[in-house]
Amino acid sequence: MTTENTGRTAIVTGAARGIGAGIATRLAADGLAVAVLDLDEAACTTVVEKIEADGGRGLAVGVDVADEVAVTAAVERVADELGEPTVLVNNAGIIRDNLLFKMSVEDWDAVMGVHLRGSFLMSRAVQAYMTKAGWGRIVNLSSTSALGNRGQANYAAAKAGLQGFTKTLALELGRFGVTANAIAPGFIETEMTKATAARVGVPFDDFKDAAVKEIPVGRVGLPADIAHAVSFFASEGAGFVSGQVLYVAGGPKA
Ligand code: NAP
Repeated sequence: MTTENTGRTAIVTGAARGIGAGIATRLAADGLAVAVLDLDEAACTTVVEKIEADGGRGLAVGVDVADEVAVTAAVERVADELGEPTVLVNNAGIIRDNLLFKMSVEDWDAVMGVHLRGSFLMSRAVQAYMTKAGWGRIVNLSSTSALGNRGQANYAAAKAGLQGFTKTLALELGRFGVTANAIAPGFIETEMTKATAARVGVPFDDFKDAAVKEIPVGRVGLPADIAHAVSFFASEGAGFVSGQVLYVAGGPKA
């Protein structure tokens, strides 16, 4: 375990599994206390137990990031029980894919709610602690889908929106010592990509093989690949890097 960042508290949303779980355990290994937030609090305990087994500090918190009242309560609880948060990773996400002509208003709103409203509510709640501390790091999970992806009008719009949101937070919060950056992953092996394969009726191994053909480094990504980039943006030394979008996709994008 490194000692850099020791004493700081991070919040990672959607951290019960997948990329969020990878980010939470990585930030804990970097020396931060980590609040593991997800819809189902019980589902967060496995990640917290792993953090604690490795000698770190973690806290499981159940919250719907799109619920304003719940977000306020969750962030206050983190501040009370773990420490005032100065690192926030907005990772919670859902997909509700469909071609535009078949996309329901409910599926549009659900995706906007988790990604955009959720990142807004979480960032607004946590910035109070960051500006008070004169130090903060916000990392938002965008996607290569922000560049456009068939069947993902809602998701692509939300992930592109998060890039504009990130750049605006960088402008507003920079003078308080707070940076805001976005990571845009390509194909990462998680339940989300498994669900996409299931939706299009392709066995996951075949789905991955097809994806790998388009990825210059010749493999799909893992949660640890994204966690490594988050670790950099959250680090003490990254204070002059703000408003950036880093494509972590095994090759060049945008
Ligand atoms: P995942 O395995 O589906 O995990 C997402 C987590 O977010 C789940 O635990 C989910 O909980 C939680 N969540 C959903 N709605 C929530 C809400 N309203 N409040 C709190 N938590 C909520 O997805 P992933 O692949 O790890 O993706 C993580 C992030 O990376 C997402 O923002 C995604 O869009 C982005 N991303 C992923 C990829 C990829 O290839 N996997 C590529 C680019 C970007 P439930 O299980 O209870 O729904």
